Amino acid sequence: MRTSRAIRRSSRRTWGPPLADVAAAPAARVAPGATAPLLAVRDLNAWYGESHVLHGVTFDVAAGEVVTLLGRNGAGKTTTLRSIMGIVPRREGKIAFEGREIGALASNRIAQLGIGYCPEERGIFSTLDVEENLLLPPVVRPGGLPVEQIFELFPNLKERLRSQGTKLSGGEQQMLAIGRILRTGARLLLLDEPTEGLAPVIVQQIGRTIAKLKAQGFTILLVEQNFRFAATVADRHYVVDHGRVVDMIPNADLDANMAKLHDYLGV
Ligand code: ATP
Repeated sequence: MRTSRAIRRSSRRTWGPPLADVAAAPAARVAPGATAPLLAVRDLNAWYGESHVLHGVTFDVAAGEVVTLLGRNGAGKTTTLRSIMGIVPRREGKIAFEGREIGALASNRIAQLGIGYCPEERGIFSTLDVEENLLLPPVVRPGGLPVEQIFELFPNLKERLRSQGTKLSGGEQQMLAIGRILRTGARLLLLDEPTEGLAPVIVQQIGRTIAKLKAQGFTILLVEQNFRFAATVADRHYVVDHGRVVDMIPNADLDANMAKLHDYLGV
């Protein structure tokens, strides 16, 4: 059983303006100098059957940012990503992407709007080879990376083009899972623990790739348990605990908040 710690908690805590100001306002009505977030999540609740696991998750991600969701096992990080993608059995709350409310849309519509999801289990088809896996997801809007550019990011994939999914290492599978969504035209990438179980040298490669994608204008929401890795790639960190966002730490302030973060994460 998980030990509970004294954590500052509030179901109403928000990081950003009320969603009505974000989603309802056309871009032209946003105040000069104020940038509407690319993704605005407000008071998000989610359930698996009778189990209520998200209790008012609220946060923003600005265009071009790399933002992490940090938290212990079972805190609700994956469920937050799954809720944004519309693949939990039940969700309530507001989710705005590019100013448009998507909280009630089906997952295929959400993907078509330009959100790419890379699940923790990676979802590589074992009977398909690298190229077939790469070409499988449909291109949903212009701006996706050409395959050659994906191979520049991940040269290993080009070398393994005819290898079946089952023959790939964990690192190669992760690269394929990320590469696959880059083709689709998605501009917001939801990456669930991309470094999990990978050798340090591969973790570094994933980190360099995230930095390159950020430089190319992609926006990335990253679930991580490894905050040392998160610190090398992210602009800001949201701490998730017991189905709520309980804190936001700018990456520049991470060192100063290390004791608090250790407490949150139980490390
Ligand atoms: P982890 O890194 O362990 O996945 P997490 O922060 O991503 O942690 P979630 O996977 O979102 O946490 O899980 C949040 C809660 O929901 C946990 O209590 C978990 O047991 C529960 N949960 C997750 N998936 C399901 C499911 N398919 N059915 C029922 N409960 C689930």
